Amino acid sequence: MESLNPLPSASRIAALIADSSNQNAKAVAISVVAATGSTNADLMQAVATLSRPQLLVAQAQTAGRGRAGRRWHTTPASALTFSLAWKFERPLHGLVGLPLAVGIALAEALQVFGVTVNLKWPNDVLRDGAKLAGILIETASVKSAGAQATWAVIGIGLNLDMPAGLEAEIGRSAAAIPELQDQSRERILAIILSALSDMLALFDQQGFAPFAARWNNLHAYSGEQVRILDGDRIQHEGIAVGVDDIGRFLMTTAQGRVAVVAGDVSLRLREPV
Ligand code: ATP
Repeated sequence: MESLNPLPSASRIAALIADSSNQNAKAVAISVVAATGSTNADLMQAVATLSRPQLLVAQAQTAGRGRAGRRWHTTPASALTFSLAWKFERPLHGLVGLPLAVGIALAEALQVFGVTVNLKWPNDVLRDGAKLAGILIETASVKSAGAQATWAVIGIGLNLDMPAGLEAEIGRSAAAIPELQDQSRERILAIILSALSDMLALFDQQGFAPFAARWNNLHAYSGEQVRILDGDRIQHEGIAVGVDDIGRFLMTTAQGRVAVVAGDVSLRLREPV
């Protein structure tokens, strides 16, 4: 049996943020719940009524989701699961590239703890080649006070521990950061919230372009033979290059350079033949 960690304290996270110089994070309302189905679903329901950005942390998430309805598996003691609702000045179509920028913010936050990770396009954080964190972004265009507002709900599941039973449930290798088990969860969350808030403020002003070089520095598959899959169908095959200024994935194929947009396609390393 896993022992349950105490519920992270919202006021302790807020106090850590208040002590920092991060103005963007200070605008965020913070709440923590013991259990919910999905923090993303909860915030998506709430965005029409929110007057400021909101962080929702759940100690246990019973219906965590990935892209295209895939599942995100956790146990309460093994992971941090949380979502951040953020309001943008830019229109919905200006959020292309946001999942990639979220990966950068997470990587930079983990670097504070000496943990090095890499990014897999479009939305995975890898450690030693295995998935450490998943990012799910849902968006809404909401009418409030007569004006249209763009909201994104950024859901993150970050593995701290990977009990054997959980890895079996996931069905593929997954990474964790057991060395962070001794850190206070409030401190980890405050550092991640700071990194996310600064990234989001810059993204709102300038879009993905200022992040492209940082993403390419963290790219897990640079120079590797990869495939883009649409379901079981191979859409492109070639050598991974990196991303461009709008977050498209660049590959060199037999037909030349291609730029892939993130839809429901999946990127995989090509198995050696
Ligand atoms: P893609 O490569 O197309 O992004 P994905 O398989 O990584 O696809 P996501 O929607 O990003 O899909 O994430 C959901 C997937 O992540 C699940 O199908 C499962 O394979 C994997 N997964 C679920 N829970 C965990 C976890 N705690 N740690 C690591 N991987 C997980």
